[in-house]
Amino acid sequence: MMRIVLTFFFAAVLIACESRRLEPDVDVVCDRCDEWNQPQPAFRIYGNSWYVGTAGLSSILVDSGDGLLLFDGGLPQSAERIEANIQGLGFDPLRIKAIFVSHAHYDHAGGVAALQRLTGAKVYTSVEGAKSLSTGKLQPDDPQYSEDIANGFAAVSNVVAVLDGDVLNVDGVTVEAVYTPGHTPGGMTWTWESCALTTCYQVVYADSLTSVSAEGYLFSAGPAANQIIESADRISQLECDILLSPHPFFFGMQDKLENRGEGNPFVNNVACAIYADIVLDWLQQRLNAERRVAIEIDVK
Ligand SMILES: [Zn+2]
Repeated sequence: MMRIVLTFFFAAVLIACESRRLEPDVDVVCDRCDEWNQPQPAFRIYGNSWYVGTAGLSSILVDSGDGLLLFDGGLPQSAERIEANIQGLGFDPLRIKAIFVSHAHYDHAGGVAALQRLTGAKVYTSVEGAKSLSTGKLQPDDPQYSEDIANGFAAVSNVVAVLDGDVLNVDGVTVEAVYTPGHTPGGMTWTWESCALTTCYQVVYADSLTSVSAEGYLFSAGPAANQIIESADRISQLECDILLSPHPFFFGMQDKLENRGEGNPFVNNVACAIYADIVLDWLQQRLNAERRVAIEIDVK
């Protein structure tokens, strides 16, 4: 009798395990997708905060001690790499309780649907971001929205919309939402404290603020340019010891990894201000280019 009971017990456990496998969504194809999705060994950034993303798309893991928080999920095809990186660090991905999304584009939110299904986590993003995240479709006011190009991603379940300044406590980790639209109408920057021994640092996961768009969109004609200026100003004024962002080249990840022997290069309390200057410079270049095109059209 005992043997039968045990057999049923182990079968039930196996079925339970079987049902919690990651089921990735269809791969997205784009010019830089393969390059972005190259594997990147996971590493500790500082304290409770770890990099678990791919070579070109960030995904950040925070260990609360009781559970895990994840920031962004890369492309659909990144989800398996993120899961493997988390496991490789010795964490159980099923302990992810909250997924925070910077902005709802396929290259940062594409893997979120599969990771949410795997974990049952709540998914937090801005009110505007939630409209795209929960439908898998860009909103028409997104600079990258196009009727011609399918640039959506798998719709995400269990999305919770948060407001600028909201403070979320997940198992003792306090995450503050800073609304930073411009690259998308729903861009959100997230910030939390990370401690090791007696030293605590404020980590800022600053959203993308690049002025890139679908063909025909003008930053000079809509609210996006002013949003980028205001968002850059917000980021430059945040308490910020460690800058992270959705694309690792924004915070010089590879250079910093190569210089890890000299202290912790990720700790830099002017990095957010420098990031703000760089995105404003990119915006100015974009506005200049739009002006040049307008003059050329006028001359013709
Ligand atoms: Zn984007």
